[in-house]
Amino acid sequence: MTELIEQLRADLGDSAVLTGEAVAARAVSWANPASRNARAILRPADTAELALAVRRCADAGQPLVTYGGGTGLVNGTDTAPSDILLSLERMNRIESVDIHGSTMTVQAGAILQTVQERAEADGFTFALDLGARGSATVGGAISTNAGGNSVIRYGMMREQVLGLEAVLADGTVLSSMNRMLKNNAGYDLKQLFIGTEGTLGIVTRAVLRLRPAMRSVCSAFLALDDFEPIPALLQRLGSESGGTLSAFEVMWRDFYEALAETGKHELPLGSDHAYYVLVEWQGGDAEQDAERFENSLAAAVEAGWIADAAIAASERQRQAFWGMRDDIDGLRELLDPIVMFDVSLPIAGAERYTSAVFERLERCWPDTFRGVTFGHLGDGNIHFMLTTGSADHDSQTEAMQIVYDELKPFGGSISAEHGIGTEKLAYLGVSRSEEEIATMRRLKQAFDPGNILNPGKVLGSPS
Ligand SMILES: Cc1cc2nc3c(=O)[nH]c(=O)nc-3n(C[C@H](O)[C@H](O)[C@H](O)COP(=O)(O)OP(=O)(O)OC[C@H]3O[C@@H](n4cnc5c(N)ncnc54)[C@H](O)[C@@H]3O)c2cc1C
Repeated sequence: MTELIEQLRADLGDSAVLTGEAVAARAVSWANPASRNARAILRPADTAELALAVRRCADAGQPLVTYGGGTGLVNGTDTAPSDILLSLERMNRIESVDIHGSTMTVQAGAILQTVQERAEADGFTFALDLGARGSATVGGAISTNAGGNSVIRYGMMREQVLGLEAVLADGTVLSSMNRMLKNNAGYDLKQLFIGTEGTLGIVTRAVLRLRPAMRSVCSAFLALDDFEPIPALLQRLGSESGGTLSAFEVMWRDFYEALAETGKHELPLGSDHAYYVLVEWQGGDAEQDAERFENSLAAAVEAGWIADAAIAASERQRQAFWGMRDDIDGLRELLDPIVMFDVSLPIAGAERYTSAVFERLERCWPDTFRGVTFGHLGDGNIHFMLTTGSADHDSQTEAMQIVYDELKPFGGSISAEHGIGTEKLAYLGVSRSEEEIATMRRLKQAFDPGNILNPGKVLGSPS
């Protein structure tokens, strides 16, 4: 194996191959600050270098784990000491923006926020947005089919990708850099690399879809005392916004109380309500949109659905609303050691489901359990951040079992947007049939017969 590392140094240059102390100096990921343990870290500068490195590793049967920004939440970038980590950190360029075609071509290591800012500077919106925008990469978002804050309006990352380039397990460069909205010429191969968590290929470049910039955005923080009107409120705002409702983020009281405890936020509403909803809709005329937005909320107040509301009067206030919703770091500190969950189910069942889960968890750990509930409920997506009071593996596994057991009657998914990685391996069968999993294995075998790409992730070890 030292031979392989020497060969890679000769191919890519010394500074592109880190070993020893330089590897250990890096943390595993955002969620895991432990020191990285891997044979080496490769930092190729472009697709040609990356493809050559993959070819060398394939020949040597060397496992590779791809790394974007390390913000994934299911241990997808964890390495065994014998793995090589393949980091896209130097492949972070925005190559071009096609103003008339409304596309942006980027290298896969480009940071999401950089892409958003460039789109804005050119008069567009890049529609994927999430709390980890400052570190998450385009490649990571593609590989996990990330969702985030505007899915209700624009769809998940899959909807933002027109084309991509990927390097296969044998080093083949598969260029599928389509720029058109419509292209039904045979199989749409890019789909193989979206949401497959780097197990079928390494995404190296992408053509992203840009949307028109919105001229106005109206935001409000709402308080509700019952769950019942929430689905109806979602539909009403969707329809009264003319289809431009772009966020419907629900926070349960436990989440809001925990925010208060962090002492970091100026809470816009009292903390004695059962639910809080951050809503946002977009439009083309600031004055008219604001009036329609206010009228729509006033009607919901009159109907008795909304108990209290704060409408953002400035961009600063809007950012403060989002700062509360996105303060995952603050809540993580408060609830340490935590287990995070990311499930989806039909919205009507959300309250029954969360109550059933919390009842069982409280019964198991009456003195130490604490949890907060929030999520992109407009997409049927709920996140829990829970602590059983212990970092002990068995208690965390027991908590997972409860959360996923209770999901079964609702036909929900154990992963709405974060993926499977290694964290949810044991539970894939809750949301996917035997036939689906067998077909996934056949694809993995066909694309990566040597099992060198992110081995063990999503499907576990081959039997
Ligand atoms: C504070 C916070 C908020 C978040 N909010 C959301 C949210 O709202 N919605 C959501 O969906 N996610 C969310 N996430 C999860 C995470 O940000 C996304 O999954 C993100 O898209 C991962 O990007 P990354 O570059 O950090 O990927 P990484 O963590 O580096 O990798 C994630 C997975 O993708 C693979 N991978 C990375 N790059 C490539 C590539 N170029 N080719 C092939 N495989 C690759 C890795 O091997 C790994 O399996 C959040 C995370 C944090 C920390």
